[in-house]
Amino acid sequence: MTTAFVVNSGSSSIKWTLLDLVSGQSRGGIVERVTDHAEAMVGILAELGNEHPDVIGHRVVHGGAVFTAATLVTDEVEAAIERLSALAPLHNPANLAGIRAARAAFPGVPNVAVFDTAFHQTLAPEAYTYAIDADVAREHGIRRYGFHGTSYQYVSRVAAELLGRNDAKLIVFHLGNGASVAAIDSGRSVETSMGLTPLEGLVMGTRSGDLDAGVIFHLGRSGSTLDELDTLLNRRSGLLGLSGTGDMRDVQEAAAGGDEPARLALDVYHHRLRHYLGAYLALLGGADAIVFTAGVGENSPVTRAAALAGMQWLGIELDESLNATRSPEARVVSSVGSRVAVLVVPTNEELEIARQSAALI
Ligand code: AMP
Repeated sequence: MTTAFVVNSGSSSIKWTLLDLVSGQSRGGIVERVTDHAEAMVGILAELGNEHPDVIGHRVVHGGAVFTAATLVTDEVEAAIERLSALAPLHNPANLAGIRAARAAFPGVPNVAVFDTAFHQTLAPEAYTYAIDADVAREHGIRRYGFHGTSYQYVSRVAAELLGRNDAKLIVFHLGNGASVAAIDSGRSVETSMGLTPLEGLVMGTRSGDLDAGVIFHLGRSGSTLDELDTLLNRRSGLLGLSGTGDMRDVQEAAAGGDEPARLALDVYHHRLRHYLGAYLALLGGADAIVFTAGVGENSPVTRAAALAGMQWLGIELDESLNATRSPEARVVSSVGSRVAVLVVPTNEELEIARQSAALI
């Protein structure tokens, strides 16, 4: 068993990676403006040439409460992913189209579904339950699920290796265009900031994160439709809504140049990071390490410094020069005297999907 083919199928694009799990080598590509997933997959098949994958791993966004780990795809599994589309109408149908196309294009090769939600199925009822009418919640599957699970699994394992222990309490910030944070104890997720959908929690590139649900009623009564509100909160909010751009580098540049809306956007973003950090320290009873990953977390010393400023009293202290150093490696950026380690760990969701898929067969 050596070669894994990883597929991240979206509504209009298919990202693929071919990984040799022994040598660690990989290559990949992206097909954009996809209208017919089956046709696109046949094109990718041609690009693979003579290379024949031993297993195909698929990213699937929503596994609901059904899937607690990576799962070999069967017709029943396909049907379950389809039923879960109600919870992720933009993502699951696209993921499923990729699965169906791969099963047709690579007959005889096992397909594995790796779910963004699975890692958080260890959350306790008090963490995943929304305080709403229990019958309504049960009927509609309304609870917190959490996302970015594949990234958390990869990053928490690397962090454990760096720390030399498996029983560490970690607070992991996955700060990309989508952003969330998780509290992880001994490799198990105990709390995370995204909920039923990826809308809850931190300020993101274009998503609002936490807000009073009353905002939706207020705007609805003022004439907005549900679709308009969905677009507003998922696509026109966050950094973009506050500053006019959803890209963190541009927001930081504008703020440095004196742009007030960009400054406020950064302040709100950082405030929310600190809010969750405090909450998760309380839930975990302290932390052994705080870990930063994804585009912003890995590359922005400014964000890490703002999130952790003035926390020496909690035993959290960055080393300014380590924090400012660029490197593609997983590394420690806290000072020697910091009681809580601060780590930067580049995430690798494709590798994690490949490993979990290979492990399953
Ligand atoms: P991702 O979704 O993980 O690819 O992350 C994308 C986000 O990372 C975008 O908002 C980028 O602006 C941000 N990003 C990438 N590099 C940097 C950097 N050097 N400083 C600040 N933000 C960055």
